[in-house]
Amino acid sequence: LSKSNQASPAFDRERAEGAGALRAALLRWYREHARPLPWRRTNDPYAIWVSEVMLQQTQIATVIPYYERFLRAFPSCECLAKAHFGRVAELWSGLGYYRRARLLHAGARKVLKDFGGQFPARYEEARKIPGVGHYTASAVLSIAYGKPVPVLDGNVARVLARLEGRRGNLAQLNFRRAVERQLNLLISIRKPGSFNQALMELGQTTCLPRDPRCGACPVHRWCRALQLGRPQDFPAPRPRRAIERRHLAAAAIYDNHKIALVRGLDEGLVRDLWNFPSVFGASEREAVERLAARLELLSGSPLELRGPVARLRHGITFRSIEVEVYAGHLRRLSPRTKKFHWTTLSMLQRTGASQLAKKIGSVLEQMRLG
Ligand code: SF4
Repeated sequence: LSKSNQASPAFDRERAEGAGALRAALLRWYREHARPLPWRRTNDPYAIWVSEVMLQQTQIATVIPYYERFLRAFPSCECLAKAHFGRVAELWSGLGYYRRARLLHAGARKVLKDFGGQFPARYEEARKIPGVGHYTASAVLSIAYGKPVPVLDGNVARVLARLEGRRGNLAQLNFRRAVERQLNLLISIRKPGSFNQALMELGQTTCLPRDPRCGACPVHRWCRALQLGRPQDFPAPRPRRAIERRHLAAAAIYDNHKIALVRGLDEGLVRDLWNFPSVFGASEREAVERLAARLELLSGSPLELRGPVARLRHGITFRSIEVEVYAGHLRRLSPRTKKFHWTTLSMLQRTGASQLAKKIGSVLEQMRLG
């Protein structure tokens, strides 16, 4: 262990004694300042599970309307388990990371089949649900069932690292272990759900990455990073994944005012949603050449591609995508063109289409009107 990540037994004892006061101050602050988020109005493990899945990699403000719509459509685990996945994907469209929706749907089926539709209260059972990892199981168990299991995310790690003046980042095993030990020492046995949410809330609203609001912080008395003078320097930033820049050639193929869509984008992305037939390439030229070959194979008909007739930029996870849209014209309709899903541009906004497909649809619609 590096020196800054190591704690002596005497240090731990002293911390344990101070932990009670710190915990009480944190819980009091949370009672008085917690934002009234919709998933905080319920103890239903299913609703909390849905919120935790949606909140992975997505901002709270974005999640709120999706969460409310989703729970209106699927108010119970049973409703979700019995729903067609197309409908789930439709309600998820725009939230991104569609794998989460697929796993949530598979998870609901498992819960209905093996646990009578009730998210299990035992950690080992919760972990058997598809998509439920350590983090989600701990969050649902502590918040819905009051189990004293700590929840560690980036916000919590930042607050704890600052309290101890700890450097490093969550990608480092030493750092993670030290923070987990600190969290185990601190967690409230009586109110673990509120405690976990209080630490997350503090990280999200007050102990901000670049500009911590220490004057409004309920635990500033215990904060080593503040004593050292530059709390924003703790912990060290996590190395960022490089943004990948790609070209995507998309085909707008018309037949009788209808436009052809296929399931999924290229490379297994958004594979449950409707998209314009599209192919990635390292360059614009490579993308369009691969698109022409793919379309001929798919449609069984020679195809003319004209353009690009439109260009736009789109981001999916760590990819920054330059999209070039080509107008496609099938020289003849073959039986294989039935593989396409044909719809109008105005219907596109209402079907289970990806955000990118809707974006391309709006651009094409504007061109048609313009
Ligand atoms: S005092 Fe400042 S740096 Fe320390 S935990 Fe509070 S907000 Fe974060």
